[in-house]
Amino acid sequence: MLKTYAKNNPTPCHQQIIRSFSRSISSPKERKTQPHKGHVITSVPSCLTLPMSQVIMISKCFSGKPVENGVHCWKCKQKLESGSELDYLLCSGCGSPQRVVVGGDGDTRRGVWRPSFYELLGVKEQSFAVDVDELAATVRRLQKKLHPDLFAGKGKEEEEASQELSSLINKAFSTLASPIDRGRYLLQLRGVKDPLGDIEKEITSEPTFLEEVMTLNERLEELESEKDWRHFREENDKVLTQLQSDLNVAFTENKIDEAKIILARMKYFDTLQSKLKELKSKLNIVE
Ligand SMILES: [Zn+2]
Repeated sequence: MLKTYAKNNPTPCHQQIIRSFSRSISSPKERKTQPHKGHVITSVPSCLTLPMSQVIMISKCFSGKPVENGVHCWKCKQKLESGSELDYLLCSGCGSPQRVVVGGDGDTRRGVWRPSFYELLGVKEQSFAVDVDELAATVRRLQKKLHPDLFAGKGKEEEEASQELSSLINKAFSTLASPIDRGRYLLQLRGVKDPLGDIEKEITSEPTFLEEVMTLNERLEELESEKDWRHFREENDKVLTQLQSDLNVAFTENKIDEAKIILARMKYFDTLQSKLKELKSKLNIVE
């Protein structure tokens, strides 16, 4: 694996480390002295005393190699099988909350589950159309079993694992429940590295849209009566609903550039929605 890694990652620094590493584990002397224990490193070469940042970088590189070996409980080492929504989150053997690495692609490399936010909340299809009520119900069910209060006094590691898991579940929910955050997250899952930057670029390259937004902002500032306020909000709601529907189509048809443009527009109309909320109290509107 090390040689393959060095071949595929031609960074001089890494290559030197890998070569030294390979030498240290494959010298004839070592094979002789450790005939039954496989490759055991008895001394650490000076080039391997790296700053932590480089160690992390290398470990990330290595983790990129797919080694399917299932998910095991960090505490009792029991293999965890995937069947229900809690299987990878709570060990059925010892009852410990599990550690997961969110943001991955759902695989189980190196014994840890790496779900996307969708997978973490048991949503099979990574699409823009999600049932937010259903998500909220899932989160309530999961938090009933995984809430940190349930693990208080059960050991530091259990407490930390439950806290991490609980906050990840909340983060997954807040991301997927918000149409804009969900859209940005979906862009990320489809390989867009900087969704926010790309969205801003889309906006600045559309002068007519900027003009439209300016006009709407001016109209908003001039709102004086409840009737006008309600009319403006109704229009804004309609636009946002239409944009969400368009975004769903764009993602379904995998039209990523189109999705970016729609999301950019959604962001602006969503800002208008926030401004409308502020104005509501100023105009003493009660709903
Ligand atoms: Zn366990």
